[in-house]
Amino acid sequence: MTATFQKVDTFDLVIFGGTGDLALRKLLPALFHRYADGQIPAGSRIVGVAREPLDDAGYRAQLRDSLAGNGADPGKLDAFLQQVFYRPLDARKDEGWDAFAALIGEQPGHVRVFYLSTSPELFEDICRRLGECGLNGEHSRVVLEKPIGRDLASANRINDAVGKVFAESQTYRIDHYLGKETVQNLLALRFGNALFEPLWNASHIDHVQITVAETLGLGRRAGYYDRAGALRDMVQNHLLQLLCMVAMEPPASLTPDAVRDEKLKVLRSLKRIDDSNAGQLTVRGQYRAGVAEGQSVPGYPDELNGAKSDTETFVALKAEIENWRWAGVPFYLRTGKRLPERVSEIVVAFKPVPHSIFGASAGPLAQNRLVLRLQPDEGVKLWLTIKDPGPGGLRLRHVPLDMSFAEAFGVAQPDAYERLLLDVVRGNPTLFMRRDEVEAAWRWADPILAAWAEGNEAPRPYAAGSWGPSAAVALIERDGRTWHEDSE
Ligand code: NAP
Repeated sequence: MTATFQKVDTFDLVIFGGTGDLALRKLLPALFHRYADGQIPAGSRIVGVAREPLDDAGYRAQLRDSLAGNGADPGKLDAFLQQVFYRPLDARKDEGWDAFAALIGEQPGHVRVFYLSTSPELFEDICRRLGECGLNGEHSRVVLEKPIGRDLASANRINDAVGKVFAESQTYRIDHYLGKETVQNLLALRFGNALFEPLWNASHIDHVQITVAETLGLGRRAGYYDRAGALRDMVQNHLLQLLCMVAMEPPASLTPDAVRDEKLKVLRSLKRIDDSNAGQLTVRGQYRAGVAEGQSVPGYPDELNGAKSDTETFVALKAEIENWRWAGVPFYLRTGKRLPERVSEIVVAFKPVPHSIFGASAGPLAQNRLVLRLQPDEGVKLWLTIKDPGPGGLRLRHVPLDMSFAEAFGVAQPDAYERLLLDVVRGNPTLFMRRDEVEAAWRWADPILAAWAEGNEAPRPYAAGSWGPSAAVALIERDGRTWHEDSE
């Protein structure tokens, strides 16, 4: 199957933090894949920026090493690297900016994308310098990586600083979950089929589950993670964005503001969780030594060399959306590190049939569930009840209509960053967070963080390789429901 791609204009894409983990592991491979598919126009340039004193050749050699490992075609890789450049500078110092501005100034007609893949503490300095260099004109866009703050006040400081130089319409706050094929498919499923939307409300949906589980532990991001924790790192952004895509009203069109207006309404309708109810509605955990992917692994405190930390590596919570469509429908969210499998999925569980005509011998009637799997193996499953085939009476069986995108379409799904990077070049911010969305998400998260801080309780321990503390199971089972397991 050959894909057809929307054309993009010639562009310069600058990655501040061009030698960092995100740039090397995600952004540059994404750009290379788009290049290999013929989507990066000749004359476009990719410019890495960091303090390391490299020249173009040195940076290209570094990239060749990291990209060649992924089985890249050597001819295409060489050609791609000819479009890659590097300028060393320290965002906090004067030197280097003139040479950088001169390089970017060589192509005044290009779309310019400045991707800030650095610590957010540098966003203000970088934006100010870009403004001073006159690089914030109408063809310029700035991409902000998460985290955008650690609470509403710090998010506002970052957004204010960026906003002094770039208009909101030029600012792209990335949440790579929104670039995933399955999330786009949620729009197609909900608004492209007559089947689901009539049932998509509190009368027919029993509850929704959103799970983002990682098998990895702290890894090399200890400094950042221990100051953030799972609520700030995952829930405030990724899980809430997924919740918005499930819960929003049908937008009038797919224009960026039509979609983002609807998401914002959901965020503003989230029931407040604070010290009056956080104890019932949230569970925090922290992993201890255990077994992950067949290997013995240390606990979180051991990874911090025994330092005491009350940072949560796991959160489960019950959110509610206080509007007509969703009143009374719980949205159970859970995310954590060192869980048994790496899986991100949304489960929409429908209400049971009103009356069973089948006798007890037919077996229990299970709920219909629509499962959207974001990773691994993106796809959609719709669990239905059928008759168990064969003679011997009518017994019921619960089976999935199963569509793995890779199997169905025979192509590997592009990484979310591939889509999102080119959306920025095209000037399409639909899948990026507007400032008011970020603020609304923090307005909901801040009282939870405050309640935890005030409660002064340590997160509950759980063994690495388990599904979190038993209280997370109790959170949903108290309501007579269970976390979805794919084998059911
Ligand atoms: P990283 O590996 O520490 O890279 C940081 C980059 O910034 C390096 O290229 C570093 O190069 C450069 N840098 C640091 N100080 C600088 C300065 N004063 N002036 C210019 N460049 C400077 O971090 P990362 O993991 O790539 O993450 C980057 C950002 O993305 C962080 O905010 C992170 O939270 C976020 N993020 C990362 C991931 C991920 O998977 N890694 C995922 C989501 C979000 P030099 O030291 O040579 O200057």
